[in-house]
Amino acid sequence: MNIVRIYELFPTEADCIDHLEKARWHGKPTCPYCQSQNTTAAPKEQRHHCNNCNTAFSVTIQTIFHHTHLPLQKWFLAVSLMLNAKKGLSARQLSRDLQVNKDTAWRICMKIREAMSQYQQRELLTGIVEIDEAYIGGKPRKGSPSDTHHKRGRGTDKAPVVGMVERGGNVKAKVMKKGDLNAKKLSALVRANVDIKTATLMTDEYTGYVHLKRLAEHHTINHKVWYVDGNIHTNSIESFWAILKRGIVGQFHKVSLKHLPKYIDEFCYRYNNRKANGGVLFDATIQKGLGLWQ
Ligand SMILES: [Zn+2]
Repeated sequence: MNIVRIYELFPTEADCIDHLEKARWHGKPTCPYCQSQNTTAAPKEQRHHCNNCNTAFSVTIQTIFHHTHLPLQKWFLAVSLMLNAKKGLSARQLSRDLQVNKDTAWRICMKIREAMSQYQQRELLTGIVEIDEAYIGGKPRKGSPSDTHHKRGRGTDKAPVVGMVERGGNVKAKVMKKGDLNAKKLSALVRANVDIKTATLMTDEYTGYVHLKRLAEHHTINHKVWYVDGNIHTNSIESFWAILKRGIVGQFHKVSLKHLPKYIDEFCYRYNNRKANGGVLFDATIQKGLGLWQ
């Protein structure tokens, strides 16, 4: 779904509201306060009146789209732009694209990230699962190589992120606390996210991963030697880190630790839906924004 389609499909506020109402209520407006469906439409005010508890409500109430004075078309455009921005979309860029101020643009981005974060990749990863860690956030230091990945973050103010990717499938990435990249914590993380009964794990030789052999079949890669030994490589997770780093370092300059998990979730969401049809993904994301997480 690109922005031209958004203009074609949702030219007016009423079209956007109609779309949200269909997605949220399937033609039966439901009072968000008492769940009654005994309601009367007040189309002029783009609201509904609940005849049971005598309150008025609109379709955006209790959703990420609840933002005064901002046309819904701008929200739809923002969703479309974020889904299509492979390297991420900065608030500064969105502010220019939507002609809104930077604070509003930032708030919209964070709200849409919130919707994407609600998406929980519930199924365990299986098959060949590549596991690796990266240090993300903060500005790269002058004179340091752009890829600090194998420095293990010593002396940096970056946050460790552990990524697990099913080859050809989905990725999961978790922001960890500094000092938590030990064998115990990493094994627990893998147990929680990977189907260890069937999966084959691929990591580098970092000592934090040595105990993974006790959980599942585990192969290690020696990065000092430049070769790819058939199936034994971590190219999939490396390419996810490349997208994430270009996005976060290039677009966002400095992401605070507090918000980092949401940014990571956004990149995971795009990666895991990379093969999805644009229109289907747009609708699914709008539904997540409405609080319909399934
Ligand atoms: Zn009610």
